[in-house]
Amino acid sequence: MPEDDGTLQSFAFTPPPRVVVPIVDSAKLFPVRRVYCVGRNYKAHIKEMGGDERESPFFFQKPTDAIVSSGTSIRYPPGTADLQHEVELVVAIGGTRRDLDSAGAEVFGVAVGIDLTRRDLQIAARQAGRPWEAGKSFDQSAPVSPIRRLCGEVLKQGRIQLLVNGTIRQDSDLCEMIWNVEEITSHLSSSFSLVPGDLIFTGTPSGVGPLAPGDVIEAAIEGVGRLTVSIAN
Ligand code: MN
Repeated sequence: MPEDDGTLQSFAFTPPPRVVVPIVDSAKLFPVRRVYCVGRNYKAHIKEMGGDERESPFFFQKPTDAIVSSGTSIRYPPGTADLQHEVELVVAIGGTRRDLDSAGAEVFGVAVGIDLTRRDLQIAARQAGRPWEAGKSFDQSAPVSPIRRLCGEVLKQGRIQLLVNGTIRQDSDLCEMIWNVEEITSHLSSSFSLVPGDLIFTGTPSGVGPLAPGDVIEAAIEGVGRLTVSIAN
């Protein structure tokens, strides 16, 4: 028999905490529902990965609880010898748009994210035609900075950078994105219901590379924010 704890439902064990992201200059938190990622969105990165830049973007997901905040010391993940960084603009969805002539979603705000990748496992999966979870969707694989609200502004440019131990590894501009934020939300919402609480990692520029225990990673996007994480020893 369930114990009477004053609620209608009683859980077999304590449910995991809700995943949230802080909002800049606000005491409120952004509750995360889903985390989508764009597979390819900068020509120079498609080239370095040996892909075809004329193809449409594709999407995958990371589990919501893969999110970690700025300042986290991240465990070097198991099962890989090639953990890599991918700095990305993250779009936070705040509403569903119901225009007559276009699908899409209202953007609540933007953040800096890193799509951490077990590159060896991702490439093995790709070659075998298997899903990408092992390469992309592991614990702590989605560091995200606090979200900066965008009140109707459209973010079209801004320097996007990632440094490892003070050395620049990735350095590009949001204007190099093949698909802009509106096109990405439009694409995604043609297949999935985008709702408030969803985050979208919008793809990485070139310069992705390996990380090692002890590395300090600083990521920044002009007009958006900064994010610092480290890889634990
Ligand atoms: Mn990525």
